[in-house]
Amino acid sequence: MRLRLFLSFALVALVSITVVVLVTRRSAETEVRELFFRRGVSGGENLVEQLTNFYQTGDSWVGVEQLFQPRGQAKGMGQGNQPAMVGQQFRLADEHGSLVYDSGVQDPDGIISSAELKAWIPISADDQVIGFLYAEGGMAVDREEELDLVKRLNQAAITAAAVAGGLSMLIAIFLAYRLLRPVKELSQSVQKLGAGDLSERAPIYGSDEIAVLARNFNQMADSLQDAEQSRRAMTADIAHELRNPLAVQRANLEALQDGIYPLTPENLEPVMEQNILLSRLVDDLRTLALADAGRLQLERSSVNLAVLLDSVVDRYNPQASKNNVEIIKTWPSEQESERCVISVDSVRIEQVIGNLLSNALRYTPRGGNIQVSLVCSERKIDVNVHDSGPGIAEDSLNYVFERFYRGDTSRSREAGGTGLGLAIARQLVEAHGGELKASNHPAGGAEFTMILPLTLDD
Ligand code: ADP
Repeated sequence: MRLRLFLSFALVALVSITVVVLVTRRSAETEVRELFFRRGVSGGENLVEQLTNFYQTGDSWVGVEQLFQPRGQAKGMGQGNQPAMVGQQFRLADEHGSLVYDSGVQDPDGIISSAELKAWIPISADDQVIGFLYAEGGMAVDREEELDLVKRLNQAAITAAAVAGGLSMLIAIFLAYRLLRPVKELSQSVQKLGAGDLSERAPIYGSDEIAVLARNFNQMADSLQDAEQSRRAMTADIAHELRNPLAVQRANLEALQDGIYPLTPENLEPVMEQNILLSRLVDDLRTLALADAGRLQLERSSVNLAVLLDSVVDRYNPQASKNNVEIIKTWPSEQESERCVISVDSVRIEQVIGNLLSNALRYTPRGGNIQVSLVCSERKIDVNVHDSGPGIAEDSLNYVFERFYRGDTSRSREAGGTGLGLAIARQLVEAHGGELKASNHPAGGAEFTMILPLTLDD
């Protein structure tokens, strides 16, 4: 790539220099000859212009001899036309080399060979050669000097080309190196990241396209590193969560095996409890894994959320009464409840509400209450669960939906919490296109709000 870039720069420079040299060489000879002619022939400064004007007026050389007549003798010439110098010998040929004027010859005739014409001054109009002029004495005298000057000019052009060429090559090498350096470094970073070094980041130079690419690469590396970190944390958490119930189970089973505890249904109870906990943990992990992979299947059907919520609350009422906690429902009127029909996976939504209610019951003290409200509007359904517990610590608010997060470890574990309940609840609500938010109510206690969008099909 670097070589190709260098060759491209070099080629562009080479072509430009060659064109400049060729053009310079071509025009140097003509310009020098004309200069020498003007210098060598007194009064001839305007002759070439006068001849050009003459030709352009009639589009031919017929009658051009008038132009060479001494002043006063010229016929039909305009005021601005200055007759050429007296006594000077001139010869004029048309564009094909046919002689049209020769001083002192009445009717000039003959063809000037193209080899001979090379020493004549070409007369051009509109970039077209219209004839050639030769001044006897005015040119031949300085011919040697003229050729010498042309040669020196050509040499200067070639030297300039060589210097410019060398400099261009150096600049081309420098540019190829500079332009490709960020690409090379980026490619090294990609290689390192690909080999597993997730801490690798590419340096960013400036703000061009390559800098944007490097920034995007770094963002991707950040995400990969974050994902890897949470994967490791998750694996460690899972191992930790499995170890506890397994250890309790094992201790109980060993005691039963050794005859320390008699094999009675009561003594098997803790083993059973830990087994249920393990099964729930595995189920929760499976739900999360499916949600992560986008493979969580929703068995949607049309459900009236007021009816569904009623049945879930009923299920938790006995436990609430046992804890001396009141569940207060704020339901829409019968007419409004028609708007609460929505297409959802009822089992999953029951799971979400159940999780919110069991958490609320866990944190609400005796004599407290849990307010469950349902609002069905045209576009969405809001379910709000607000308890009269201590609320969520401010620094925990951002983490309650994270996997294995437990704000109050002992209470949660005691109640058989896995720290996955809210993480799963949020995933389930999001799978329905909705959102689940946690906050602290201004009047105290934690408040969870589930918002489900109503689509046109609902
Ligand atoms: P767990 O199943 O262990 O309770 P969750 O994901 O359901 O896990 O809850 C995570 C954390 O959120 C809890 O450990 C607790 O700190 C906090 N939390 C959840 N619900 C409430 C609530 N109603 N009041 C106060 N804190 C709560």
